[in-house]
Amino acid sequence: AAKTAELIWFNGEMMPWGDAKVHVMSHALHYGTSVFEGIRVYDTPTGPVGFRLTEHIQRLYDSAKIYRMPIPYQFDELMQACRDAVLANGLSSAYIRPLAFYGDIGMGITPPSGAQCDVLVAGFPWGAYLGEDSMEAGVDVAITSWNRLAPNTIPTGAKAGGNYLSSLQVSTEAKRNGFDEGIALDTNGLVSEAAGANIFVVKKNKIYTPPATAAILMGLTRDTIMTLARDKGYEVVEENMSREFLYLADEIFMTGTAAEVVPVRSVDRIEIGAGKRGEVTGIVQQSFFGLFNGETEDRWGWLEPLKQD
Ligand code: PMP
Repeated sequence: AAKTAELIWFNGEMMPWGDAKVHVMSHALHYGTSVFEGIRVYDTPTGPVGFRLTEHIQRLYDSAKIYRMPIPYQFDELMQACRDAVLANGLSSAYIRPLAFYGDIGMGITPPSGAQCDVLVAGFPWGAYLGEDSMEAGVDVAITSWNRLAPNTIPTGAKAGGNYLSSLQVSTEAKRNGFDEGIALDTNGLVSEAAGANIFVVKKNKIYTPPATAAILMGLTRDTIMTLARDKGYEVVEENMSREFLYLADEIFMTGTAAEVVPVRSVDRIEIGAGKRGEVTGIVQQSFFGLFNGETEDRWGWLEPLKQD
């Protein structure tokens, strides 16, 4: 395996990266039965912090609850595993990937009663998801031909491995066609989200983002940006939006743990605003990154120190 860190937490133990192995008949490999999270650790003036770590771990348990997957570890144990996975690798800025999955539990689709999940937590370095340049220049996106999952099929509110077959179609189609990223519409034809990020529109100084019912994952970065923008005095609304609402936007940006806050400069080759990062996008982006250099006061308790004393 490509080794991205020295040590990894697997089923309660810290072990060498290469030793964390699963059987080829693992249920998750065949049926996509995994739930996971992605958390960023930022190096701040007061030391490394897990950004909204508790809420990410809560979302992991929520995703597992939706699928009735029993996670055989207590909340606090997984919190500690996250801190350990980063600190044991000597990292002060990192991406944490906890994942719970059905392993070698047999080949039936229905897990046998009492089947437990295997759980891993990896901590490794990860820079800007869509490249450093994109943070200012913006990215080119396309509406893809693949719709996001229909309601009552696979719940997009759970962050589950299987969902990412949809994300894979969305992003690879866009990239094959020369775009940086894809945006999917939901099965009603309304704007949903990007492959692994939520979307925001700025129009006449007001900020819009699709609601929970638009087949999105309720991103924690989405919530962060809504909170920070409101704090700056912007009106933020969760509202359904059409594809052409994107074309006529003053500004568009995407948010996610990996993506952070990325401006969108064009949609389907139609230039958005001035074709580069807009003013409001710049303000929320600065306010977001300010959390990690001390310029934005964390009044919400989002920065959770990794080193406990
Ligand atoms: N939507 C999808 C499909 C995602 O994978 C992600 C990344 N977790 C997001 C939205 C953004 O969520 P968050 O801000 O919590 O990372």
